[in-house]
Amino acid sequence: MKILVTGGAGFIGSALVRYLINETECEVINVDKLTYAGNLESLADVADSPRYCFYQVDICDRNALDEIFARLQPDAVMHLAAESHVDRSIDGPQAFIETNIVGTYTLLEAARGYWNRLDAPRQAAFRFHHVSTDEVYGDLEPEDPAFTETTAYAPSSPYSATKASSDHLVRAWHRTFGLPVVLSNCSNNYGPFHFPEKLIPHIILNALYGKPLPVYGDGGQIRDWLFVEDHARALYAVVSRGEVGLTYNIGGHNEKTNLQVVHTLCDLLEVRGALKPAGVERFRGLITFVKDRPGHDKRYAVDAGKIQQDLGWTPQETFESGLRKTVDWYLDNRSWWTRVLSGDYALERIGEHQNEAVEA
Ligand code: NAD
Repeated sequence: MKILVTGGAGFIGSALVRYLINETECEVINVDKLTYAGNLESLADVADSPRYCFYQVDICDRNALDEIFARLQPDAVMHLAAESHVDRSIDGPQAFIETNIVGTYTLLEAARGYWNRLDAPRQAAFRFHHVSTDEVYGDLEPEDPAFTETTAYAPSSPYSATKASSDHLVRAWHRTFGLPVVLSNCSNNYGPFHFPEKLIPHIILNALYGKPLPVYGDGGQIRDWLFVEDHARALYAVVSRGEVGLTYNIGGHNEKTNLQVVHTLCDLLEVRGALKPAGVERFRGLITFVKDRPGHDKRYAVDAGKIQQDLGWTPQETFESGLRKTVDWYLDNRSWWTRVLSGDYALERIGEHQNEAVEA
């Protein structure tokens, strides 16, 4: 299968590309605009593979997409490109509207134009896989059952509202135009190569620098955490074996409060012997409670029973084993994250330090 992956230089996209090149026979066309969140250094392992190629393209650019479809003739699209950080969507929603809604629309139209011209067998085999989030379902009370594929949409943030919007567009392109789509909605991911503005890498790196470890509100918000490499395997199962028109929820069966996550990270850093900056006695002592995020969702939980039953996928990592691998990766890969923190990872493509500040 030749797969056009959008957002392949991002956190999950790069894990997916590494999986497709290292664990399958697939060819990968990586289409990524390289925003602040895109980092080609996350793909160094696979960049020289003859089955991999990269195009720096904005998914809102219809002409560029048309040319790529016509020239490279993919068998499937796996659409991950998005603006993905909730805090940024509160500070400035416009880029979220453009990439997540207009970009998805543009990609759908480019895919539909290409698909319409394929012969019947290739049309039948073609897949458009839209990668989305559990945040489209809103949040849950502590006693509520987990989200299923039929839970009504109730997004809370500009980010989740734009993802919900893109999910609706993808379903409409299937129902109205017959485009063979599959969708997946996944819980919070964590793992290697995660951009340091997100909770887990942010906490690890702040701890290593002896900076405060900011926790929103009382830290009681519950998320269901999934190791990113488990997500990559799930995505491949969905694109290669998922039923056309269906949605698959993906989750890690790991409901944890944010405070539990931060405590576990601090303890792992102690156990793994991470060097403490001067004046820091215990990493837990750096925890600082900060004003809660507006509209902060209380709890997410994903029922991943359908993907387990229909496609045989279950996560391989427990929260403990995945988090240990993640902490070890950050301890062993200082050069990757120091280049992200300094902005050097983006120098070659933008000529100067233009990436936005990492969360303080
Ligand atoms: P990310 O922010 O790390 O990466 C996004 C990538 O998309 C970057 O490489 C960026 O350069 C690229 N991109 C952004 N705008 C673009 C545009 N206009 N054209 C082309 N490329 C563009 O995001 P992520 O965490 O890897 O998430 C990937 C996908 O998975 C997103 O669709 C997100 O909604 C979804 N998702 C994420 C999580 C999570 O926990 N991170 C959970 C469930 C679903």
